[in-house]
Amino acid sequence: MKKIYLLLIYINIVVSALAQQSYQYKVDLTKAGKHSVLVTLRTPKMNKRDVSFCLPAIIPGTYQFSNFGRLVFDLKAYDSKGKELPVMHEEGANSWKISKALNLDSISYTVEDTWHQPKDLGIYPMGGTSIEAGENFSINAPGFFGYFENMENLAFQVEFIKPTGFYGSSALEAVNTSDSSDLFSVGSVHDLYDSPIMYCKPDTASVNLGRTTVLVSSYTTDGKKHAPALVAEMERLLTATQSYLGGKLPIKKYAFLYNFANRAPMQGALEHNYSSFYALGSMPESKMKSMIVSISAHEFFHIITPLSISSKEIREFNYQVPVLSKHLWLYEGTTEYDAHHLQELYGLTDYKQFFKALTKKIAESYNKYNDTLPFTVMSKEVATTYKNQYGNVYEKGALISACLDIYLLHLSGGRYGLGQLKHDLGIRYGRNTYFEDDSLFDQIAMLSFPEVKDFLNKYVAGSMRIPYTDFFAMAGVDYHTNLQRQVYSIGQPGIAVMAGKKVTIVGVSNLDDMGRKMGYKLMDEIVSVNGEPASGSDFYELIDRQREAWKEGDVLTMVVKRKNDAGEEELKTLTAPVSVKETITEAYRMKMMPDKDLTPLQRNVRKAWLSGI
Ligand SMILES: [Zn+2]
Repeated sequence: MKKIYLLLIYINIVVSALAQQSYQYKVDLTKAGKHSVLVTLRTPKMNKRDVSFCLPAIIPGTYQFSNFGRLVFDLKAYDSKGKELPVMHEEGANSWKISKALNLDSISYTVEDTWHQPKDLGIYPMGGTSIEAGENFSINAPGFFGYFENMENLAFQVEFIKPTGFYGSSALEAVNTSDSSDLFSVGSVHDLYDSPIMYCKPDTASVNLGRTTVLVSSYTTDGKKHAPALVAEMERLLTATQSYLGGKLPIKKYAFLYNFANRAPMQGALEHNYSSFYALGSMPESKMKSMIVSISAHEFFHIITPLSISSKEIREFNYQVPVLSKHLWLYEGTTEYDAHHLQELYGLTDYKQFFKALTKKIAESYNKYNDTLPFTVMSKEVATTYKNQYGNVYEKGALISACLDIYLLHLSGGRYGLGQLKHDLGIRYGRNTYFEDDSLFDQIAMLSFPEVKDFLNKYVAGSMRIPYTDFFAMAGVDYHTNLQRQVYSIGQPGIAVMAGKKVTIVGVSNLDDMGRKMGYKLMDEIVSVNGEPASGSDFYELIDRQREAWKEGDVLTMVVKRKNDAGEEELKTLTAPVSVKETITEAYRMKMMPDKDLTPLQRNVRKAWLSGI
């Protein structure tokens, strides 16, 4: 008894000491409105008469304004006796000026979520918030919790009262948890904003990889459990990632939080130090797997850039006035490249899929973005002037990385690539130091080769277009634009993908000899091609893949649904030996050069690039 009594006193002292110098938030999720909830805050002690309470204008990883102040309503400030203190606020602004703040004791406000606004506020859903009372609470903290100016580095305690049966998934461990509430505690607003929490009925699974525990949490409106299948994918992915990063994952716990109830046209994911949050629409499990592996690989790789290697601008993040870095090519570009490269290296995809992903990026970067706008200039002003160029970080940003990887391998005879460079940069800087934006190229040249500085000045800081043909050739890969090829014809029918993904013949007036032999009829619905089911726009890929392999004498067989004279649908088999050739033009294509034509250096570079150093 005595012992317990003493312990209680001890705890009391700790709690009251913390009360002096920490933010104590409380949110009762059981009392949430449809898409809103009341937030209360016991404030830390103020030592000024006038203080500013702020919500972020911009958050790390998004490179655009969110202005979360727009989601906060009826903010009231009280002294310890419950008397209201004067608050000044301009509608739509991110800050509230509180007077007589020496007496400030608590604040309360209602916060609305970002996912269910009647008007689009232009906030990325993956950095936003979703409140669906009784169903799901996706809590990206910058959209819920504010801080006082110049008091960002105090501790935060956040208590959630949760509905029965709900589980709060997060990389954070609750310091106190019961059936009805969780208490989280973090050292600063940066840690709070770095830790999304998703509350819902649990669909979770976890796996241990070495020292790292990986949590997968999923929420869908179809009521199905997806976490076990997803965690199996993540295990495959992270085992490969572990090898890619030289044998171990640099964190103890990581959480993948998937919310599949996002109905906005914008889908995506946002990285954090120990977790990533995914705002996705509902999708079949088959698509879920391939899409989610790529996007999750990307988010996970952010633990390297910018979370372990970054400049001052990223590390000392200013939530009110964005001061952006010049090096989005490093933060987003290399991350996107690594995510694809890793999958090729460790057999999750093959080199053809990898080449296809790269050529698709070339096409997108040319078609949608300004290819001669220096990447450093774009990065620096991406929240304002070059907002519409941001998407190019995933296209040209990844291509810069691919070419840099190959160039490093070329200069080192296949011994040193982008992976090694990032590893060395991680050792040089790490989580506790940062680089100066202007010195990065020199540092990279120092760690690798002097020639690399020239590469970076030309293609990252300069406006020169990347000569892809030259760089891919260093790895023994032919890169062509507008390449014409002869392939076997399927007969030149007009084909359209109709509602319900039905692949339908909509034109028979231009049939060639092959088409006439097949005997296509208008409104035939193609069910299968040489035994492979045909559905949706994947049909075109299926045809391309199949006819790539056809040889003289092979036979094309299609099963189609066709209405008979009585108007009933029946299955018909159409078949003919492939005979007629047609010319197709491919805008961008990468292809292996024949082995015998390679120099020893090309052979080494290709091997290191596609099979590992
Ligand atoms: Zn990213």
